[in-house]
Amino acid sequence: MMKVVHTVADLKAELKAQRLANKSVGLVPTMGALHAGHASLVTRSLAENDVTVVSIFVNPTQFNDKNDLAKYPRTLENDCKLLENVLEIFVKKELIAFAPTVEEVYPEPDTRQFSYPPTDEVMEGGFRPGHFNGVCQVVSKLFMMTEPDRAYFGEKDFQQIAVIRRMVDDQKFPLQICPCPIVREEDGLALSSRNALLSPDERKIAVSISQALFASQHYAKSHTLKETKQWVIDTINAVEGLEVQYYEIVDGNSLLSLNEWDDSDYVVGCITVFCGAIPVRLIDNIKYKSC
Ligand code: AMP
Repeated sequence: MMKVVHTVADLKAELKAQRLANKSVGLVPTMGALHAGHASLVTRSLAENDVTVVSIFVNPTQFNDKNDLAKYPRTLENDCKLLENVLEIFVKKELIAFAPTVEEVYPEPDTRQFSYPPTDEVMEGGFRPGHFNGVCQVVSKLFMMTEPDRAYFGEKDFQQIAVIRRMVDDQKFPLQICPCPIVREEDGLALSSRNALLSPDERKIAVSISQALFASQHYAKSHTLKETKQWVIDTINAVEGLEVQYYEIVDGNSLLSLNEWDDSDYVVGCITVFCGAIPVRLIDNIKYKSC
């Protein structure tokens, strides 16, 4: 059964009964505009827990760009329909959609500072100052409100998982972080709520991002790390309408940039690309070596 709640008090009331009955709780934090990528996280949580809480909250403190926050899609009604559909095959499981207001999450300004270098300083951390502080603020609040046994995050936001793992260690949250693989469109584009902002022409060229990343796995076999990095950047920048903001090939745990393939057993390439005239910022990543 699915319930939609808007206040922390209602969420806690729902969860209290479940906890008394010894039920396990999974949390899937989202900003809404749900798609099949989110659905894969929710499906996994439903399979692994008695109760799944899906939070739907566009968190203002993680947006360093006011315009980006204003144009972020908000589609609660459709989101609830998608969740109902995902829940359909899970008889006996409970789903709570938690869609609070900004005032409910932040009755007063959150002045907490989280700092987990180097994971929160490199890449997104450098280009979006304060972003991961905002992510840690909202995710830590969601952890405290929900007290989940497991929390599900997509590897599409690869850096986010590394930062949240550090926060969980630091704050001693008694829960398990469950990373979930990237869900892609048939042509390879990573699903993202931001894809809805692309015009049909922009959508067509956006596929070059994942194409270049996949092709680079092959290219990497006969080229150095530095050559591969440059090849990805040049290949994407050669497409009119695409502009790479950064491409870093990093150690999958520390997120520090690598110089040679042999410098780590866990090697991931993380990219951010601007797409289109009024640029939509798209992120993606690819594993060269997994441990
Ligand atoms: P968001 O609503 O963009 O904040 O995303 C909520 C969660 O869904 C995050 O953990 C994301 O990493 C995850 N997510 C978003 N897109 C995808 C995708 N294409 N594949 C897997 N997970 C995703």
